[in-house]
Parts: sequence; structure tokens; C-alpha cells
Amino acid sequence: MDPAKPAAIRSFVSVGPDSHFPIQNLPYGVFQPRSAGAPQIGVAIGDQVVSLAVLEDRGLVRVSDRPVFDKPTLNAFMALGPAAWHQVRATISKLLSADEPSLRDNAALREHAFFAQKDVHMRLPVDIGDYTDFYSSREHATNVGTMFRGADKALLPNWLYLPVAYHGRSSSIVISGTDVRRPCGQMSASDTGPPSFGPSKALDFELEMACIVGSGNDLGRAIPAGKALDHVFGMVIFNDWSARDIQRWEYVPLGPFLGKNFGSSISPWVVPMAALEPFRVAGPVQDPPPLAYLQTPGDSAYDIQLDVSLQGPRMDAPHRICRSNFKYLYWNIAQQVAHHTVNGCNLRTGDLLASGTISGPTADSYGCLLELAWKGTRPLEFPNGETRTYLQDSDRVSMTAWCQGNGYRVGFGEVTGRVLPAIIE
Ligand code: MN
Repeated sequence: MDPAKPAAIRSFVSVGPDSHFPIQNLPYGVFQPRSAGAPQIGVAIGDQVVSLAVLEDRGLVRVSDRPVFDKPTLNAFMALGPAAWHQVRATISKLLSADEPSLRDNAALREHAFFAQKDVHMRLPVDIGDYTDFYSSREHATNVGTMFRGADKALLPNWLYLPVAYHGRSSSIVISGTDVRRPCGQMSASDTGPPSFGPSKALDFELEMACIVGSGNDLGRAIPAGKALDHVFGMVIFNDWSARDIQRWEYVPLGPFLGKNFGSSISPWVVPMAALEPFRVAGPVQDPPPLAYLQTPGDSAYDIQLDVSLQGPRMDAPHRICRSNFKYLYWNIAQQVAHHTVNGCNLRTGDLLASGTISGPTADSYGCLLELAWKGTRPLEFPNGETRTYLQDSDRVSMTAWCQGNGYRVGFGEVTGRVLPAIIE
């Protein structure tokens, strides 16, 4: 399907052109009706959720001998592998299409299987195992390197040869809507100390996307770049909340730790890679050429528009502070997966691989406050006269992402979170 062509397939569920959830998308999430009922797996369409647990129970969707959708996470379904994902997606697409009567003409079943999104509570869609955070935006790495080491040493020698990453922590990854507590920690005005202790004064967000690993690899066996996307189930928006002052003092020599692991937020709907396929585009030219195991011929990037907005407690409305695009990433998803496993490291169902902050070439496309306000030297100004260099208590950060087709959007909804004040004992 070409995104420039009008969407040929239509659903009997009415979906506006700006909706993130037309029949071309069909993202998976875990929801719980606000009234009552257990967590279960559903698919978003328009402003509705369709319960796959109900459709599976009625025999309309069947992918395994055992139920996989009457579950509080997507893991059992994801573990079935890409052939099962494609079969289920094709089945759901048919059931929701305008000319298929089985759901369209069965009002009693629809009553049972459809929920208004406003009437459900979304939960973390995946039992996340290991979490890795990459550093794959050349613009972000260059800006941060320039601020801390000078323009001539901005990119370290390894950066253009491998997708740099660190191992993060999954326990503090939360669903959109969860408030995030300002962390306390050590910080120092100078590189040599001594440090002080207290609430972070440089709390930031990072605009990222994350891949969910659907099926893993055996320990000791690498995933080749050409097979990497068979292992990726889908993507979410990812806000990697960061405390810059804690990070700056602690990161030498082993990398990020407490400046990062106090919280990260994800959007609730996992958009399948198949829904993103029409939006593949060429990525940045890679020079020097990557080593053979990292080569990915063809269109390896995705054209996903990204917006970040901030609303302080005294602001009338959210104010957009960043507009970026996933296609700016230097290292693509297949390269990240290939590199992660090239030493034999095993990825597992439910692992999460985040992209790193996605900055673009212009000053309004930088994906974090560290860059947008350039290390505190260029405060952002808001319509009510307030300024920000870093986040203040009660600030709300929201991120949204979507692919623009001709007359339709394949979107991710949003990830939002509000800053709570530090707890000082
Ligand atoms: Mn990050």
C-alpha cells in the first residue's frame, strides 16, 4: 500500500481523517473497562476498542490452541511469532471492513465486543523484560557532545561505526498518564566535586520511540540485519525522563544510572510494524559505510511525525515545543537489533529497545530541553510570559506521533505525564 494513494480499505466503524486509529492501523493494547472486568487485549479503531478476548471466545479470531487475548499482557500472543501476528491482523482487518457482515450486522456481539475508549483504562501492554536505550540520533549526539566537549570532539570515534546504547531498567517504565516524581540525587557544579544532595534542578524529557521485541533469538546466535524486523512486534512512543544534573556527575565511566532509571513513560497502543510498512523512507546517508553486519539496503527509516508539548500549571493550554521526525535517526531499527545480538546476546519476547532522543536538524526539532534551551542558556518562552530551561513541578509533557497517508493517519495516540514534587525526608 502506498501512503500517497487514498486508503482503499474502509471500516464499518466511522473514523475521521485525523483519527490515529483507522483500519489501516489496528494497534494492540491492554485495557480494562472502567465499570468492571479483568484486563484484556483489544485493538483500537476510531474512538472505540474492540475486545480480542471476546472475538477469540466467540471463535472469530483463533490463533492458538489456548486463548492468548484474555490476558493482562501481549506477551503470549507476541511469542507465537510473525506468522501468527500476520494471520491475526488479516483476520481483524477483514472483520472490521465495511463489506464484512459478521460483526457489522451482529448488534448483540458488537454490544459485547466494542468499548468506547473513554470508558476504558489502559494498562502497560507488555510485561517488559530487558530495556535497552540507544543513542541513535546524530543531531542529538552532536548537540550534546558540542555542549560538553566542544564542537571539534562532539561525536566520539565509535559513534559512526556502531549504534551506541546502554542497558536500562524496566521496573520503572510506566504507562501514559502516570505522574513522575522528581528524583533526588547527587550533583556537582564541577567535574571534580564535591557533590551536594537534593532534588534534581535539571529534570528533562527525551522524545523517543521504542520497539517491542516479539520473538527473540537463542543465546549465542545473532539476528542478521536482514531478518531483524521479523523479530519486532511493533512500536510505541517513549519518554525517557532524565535528570541532567544527576546524570552529569554519575555517568563516568560506566554510563547512565540514577539520572535515568527513576521513570520512563510509554504510550498504550502498540502499532504493528505491518501498519508502518507504507511509510518506509530512505534514512540518512551513512558515511563511513557500516561494517557488513550492519548494512541494510533499501528504505530502512520510517516517516513518523513527532510533536512534544508542555503545559505548566499556570498555562491555559499545552504549548508545542518540538516538532521532529523518526526518519532523522541515523541508525535504523534493523541495525539496532543486529548490533544488539551480534555478540550472541539473546533478545526475548517483551524486551524494549528505545531509539534515543530523536532530534532533527533545526533548533525547533530538538528532542529534549537540554538541547531546546541549550544547556540553560536559551530559555523557552511561553505565551503567558513564563520561561523554562528544565521542567518545573506540575509541568505536563505530552508527546504524539503519526504517519500521514493520503486522507488517513496511522498514529500512536500520545504519551503524557506530569511532574510531581520531590519527596524530601
Ligand atoms: Mn534516552
